[in-house]
Amino acid sequence: MNYKIVNINSSGNRSILIIYTGGTFGMVRDEDGALTPFNFGKVVECIPVLKNLNLKLTVISFPIPIDSSNVGIQDWKNMAYIIEENYMQYDGFVILHGTDTMAYSSSMLSYMLKGLNKPVILTGAQIPIGSLRSDARENLIAALELASAEQEGIPKISEVGLYFNYKLLRGNRSQKLRSSTFAAFDSENYPPLAEMGINIAFNNSALKKHNTKANLNVSATLNPNISLLKLFPGMPQHSASAILSESKTRGVVLETFGSGNTMKFEWFTKALKEAIDRGKYILNVSQCVGGEVQQGKYETSKMLNEIGVLSGNNITTEAAVTKMMFVLGTQTDKDKIRRMLTSPIAGEMD
Ligand code: ASP
Repeated sequence: MNYKIVNINSSGNRSILIIYTGGTFGMVRDEDGALTPFNFGKVVECIPVLKNLNLKLTVISFPIPIDSSNVGIQDWKNMAYIIEENYMQYDGFVILHGTDTMAYSSSMLSYMLKGLNKPVILTGAQIPIGSLRSDARENLIAALELASAEQEGIPKISEVGLYFNYKLLRGNRSQKLRSSTFAAFDSENYPPLAEMGINIAFNNSALKKHNTKANLNVSATLNPNISLLKLFPGMPQHSASAILSESKTRGVVLETFGSGNTMKFEWFTKALKEAIDRGKYILNVSQCVGGEVQQGKYETSKMLNEIGVLSGNNITTEAAVTKMMFVLGTQTDKDKIRRMLTSPIAGEMD
């Protein structure tokens, strides 16, 4: 890849690498008025204060910045490889990313960057940096401050976080819940890792513990052959069956009602069972943003335990979809796959 590299500041207390992937943060309007990504050079012009921060700052820019609706497996690998290649030279990493799929990317990176003990903070904006009321400036400056925060030489954050609108959330617990307010993200099932006020209030008990001995080890084998089946009342048999019986699919994230309930129709239970018998993994995730799956609490979820549907507990759909790609890409042993899907591997579920 031909990345563009720009040095903004060559001296400072801490060194941070900014990875610019695109997103509204750096967009301009094209001739039809639609927002499209532009190069990072303009960002520095819009935030001249970046040059005055007491931070050594470098930017690596994707050759063609993307709208994050176009993000895919290769982009996740590129982000992970950039971090791996530059891991020793920098104290922290800030990824500028579109908001639409930021929760997916931060989840995926939390799995791929095994042994991470430095901050990786994803952020973006709802209004482009060039607009007067943009949230881009605050989000970037705060993300840089968080990525450089340390205590006695130990980084305050040693995990993948998502910073937006005064809150730092655990990356794999976050979801984009609102598209037209500045408070776009939340993590309903996990407390914020830090809140930005006059001071930074770190939530020490929620932050991942720093492990000085950990070594970064990037796992980049991902399996794209997974599906997402969101249930709705009145769902026709043919559409559910089409997903469950598709031959290439190895795993299905099943978005169920409430605390993990599905319709208790014979055809549906049979379609699930047949998929499992053919070696597919079905992971039960709730459509609710808060709470967890409890298979067996209702009659409408009891049979799921009997046929081998796996409970995703309180994982988000974003974290579940990316976790399936990761686990099915890196593991082959069936018991290990089941164990990994039903228990936390990077703090993504309880
Ligand atoms: N479509 C944009 C993106 O995700 C939205 C944003 O950045 O806020 O890249």
